[in-house]
This record gives sequence, C-alpha cells and structure tokens, in this order.
Amino acid sequence: MKWSWNIGKIAGIDVRIHLTFLLLLIFIGFSAYSAGGSIESVLLELAFVLVLFLSVVLHELGHALVARRFGFSTKDITLLPIGGLARLEKMPEEPKQELLVAGAGPLVNVVISGVLFVVLLLAGTFALPLNLTSLLNNFWVRILSANLTLAVFNLIPAFPMDGGRVLRAFLSIRMDHVKATRIAANVGRGIAVVMGIAGFFINPWLVLTALFVWYGAGAEAQSTSLKAGLHGLTVRDALVSQFYQVEANQPLDSVFQLMMQTGQYTLPVTSNGHFLGFIRRSDLQAALQRVGNRAPSYSAIGVEPKGLALDTPLTDVLPQFGSSRVLPVLDNRALIGLVTPESVQQSMWLKTHPNQPGDYQTEKDAPST
Ligand SMILES: [Zn+2]
Repeated sequence: MKWSWNIGKIAGIDVRIHLTFLLLLIFIGFSAYSAGGSIESVLLELAFVLVLFLSVVLHELGHALVARRFGFSTKDITLLPIGGLARLEKMPEEPKQELLVAGAGPLVNVVISGVLFVVLLLAGTFALPLNLTSLLNNFWVRILSANLTLAVFNLIPAFPMDGGRVLRAFLSIRMDHVKATRIAANVGRGIAVVMGIAGFFINPWLVLTALFVWYGAGAEAQSTSLKAGLHGLTVRDALVSQFYQVEANQPLDSVFQLMMQTGQYTLPVTSNGHFLGFIRRSDLQAALQRVGNRAPSYSAIGVEPKGLALDTPLTDVLPQFGSSRVLPVLDNRALIGLVTPESVQQSMWLKTHPNQPGDYQTEKDAPST
C-alpha cells in the first residue's frame, strides 16, 4: 500500500504503518492537549490508542497464522485508522477453512478480553462496592471493553466484516459458493440499511460504516461470481490472435498511420518476433513531440507488461489489467496473441452459452443438412 512504512516483523509477516494512522495519533494527542490535558493525560491517550492497535495487530495475526496453517501466506499487515488489514495472498474457499480463518481474528480479541478480565478480577479492580466512574476511566478496563467491541463489531454478519465470511462459510456447507456469497451479501446489505437508518438518529459514524458495509457486500458478491465465471478458463480461451504489430525500427509516422487506419490504439512492438512492449495512443503522441516522426518505434514504448502463457488461468490474469488494458501472450518471448478485458468477457459468455457462433469446433463438426 502506498504511503506506508515497515515498522517490524511478527512471525515472518511485515507489519506496516500507514501515514493516515500517524496522522490519527497526532490528532488524538493534539485534541487531548487542547482539551486542557496535562502531558501525562496526552501520553495516556496515545498509549491507549497504541495498545488498542496492538490488539488490532494481534487480531490480524490471528487470521494470518490460521491461514498459514492451511498453506495461504500473508503479504503484510497494514495499520490504518479504521483498523488493521492483513493482505492474504489468496482467501481459502473451502468452507471449513474460511470459517476458521475468519473466526480467528475476533477470537483473539475475545481471548484478550478474557485474560484482562481475569487479571483485573485478581487485582481487585471489580471489588465491591463498584465505583463506576473510576472503573470506566481505568486504562485496562477501557482496553478490555475496546477488545470486546472489536470482537462484536467484526462478527456482524456483513461483508467486508469477518462475520460476513463466517456466515458465507456456514451457508457454503449446504449450497454452492456463489449462491452462499449472494445470500451473505444480501444479509449484509440488509444490515447496512438498518445501520444507516439507526445512524441518522444515534451516531453519524454509523451511517459511514453502513455505506462501507453496503459497498463491501456488493464488491464481494461481484468478485465471487466473476471468479466462478472464470473458473476453468485459461488464456487460450480468451486469446486474440489477429492483431497488428510494429517492428522496433519502424518510424513513428508509420505507427501513427497504422493506428489511424486500423483503430487499434495499443500496438505491440516486436524485434525479430520477440515482444518488447506496447505503444499506446498517449505514448505515441508524447514520443512524436519528444523525438519526432522519424524516430524508431521502440522509442515510444510506454508499457512493458509481463507476458502471459497460454495455460495461465484467467482468474490470475484479471489483477494484471491495472497498468495496461492489453496483455501480451508469449511463447518463449515470441508474441503469439493478446488478451483484453473484452476478450476475457467474451470467453466467459461463451462458456455459459455453448453452441454459439464463437464455438467454431461445433459448427465445423455439425452435419450439413
Ligand atoms: Zn478480522
């Protein structure tokens, strides 16, 4: 994630801190100070936030370590003002595994609360008669209740909260993954609506959370049905094999001509059949300004995306469409085709509509009448 720095490593996983989290610390320190607090109370407020976020790191670590047991590694854990974010390389789809991975985070907070409760009990903090004010101001009681809040909040059965995954995992035991996700997403949206309406009367912060939940639910449902649609398809199914390309030493004015005549606004540049990179329309315009129209085409190359192999699963291809809308398919550095978001979409459509015009094989084999 941009604007974040490594602050250490726990169990081999990088822990990163985001700039906005530092800003939050400054904000809390400043507001405690301007509220007329002493240096001591400012430090206490900051310590509270730090211990709270340590709980968040342990929560994320709970997810990461259980995921590791099932063979899924975690790229890093980032601290944001809204909590922690553990980036798993891949989410387990097997219901039992998803259930354990999703449940592990909140469970960590329950355990922290339980341990704190026992320690405070032994220390006599809850001795009768109870002084409610001093109890609510007790540093460790605040940490305890914050951990309970974290556990309860994360178990709300709505994506992107852990509870949404727990619910989906339970449903997946009885039905297929896509249907389970759709139901879990709808439950999440229902909760978001209730939360949003309640927020208007109680706390504007709830309205914000409701929006977050609403979009999280939709995004999860969409990405799951997309993944299901792409299941079993490879680059071979989405290959665009007819396209124009330019030689590395071809002058830029002829590249411009080719773009104009063919309407193909991303042209692969090759040298003796070897793929070098793409010239997009904007790259060409910039290069014409910079080096003139007689310069060789390779000087205008703007992106050099990683090449795909024919047997690469399409589910792995989607995340790579970020930098370039077109991806090269290579066989030993030789360019054999292109893949675009549109061609991926077509291959999905063909999968659900067999015997369509695109299915040349069937047409050829059909007996003539
Ligand atoms: Zn979690």
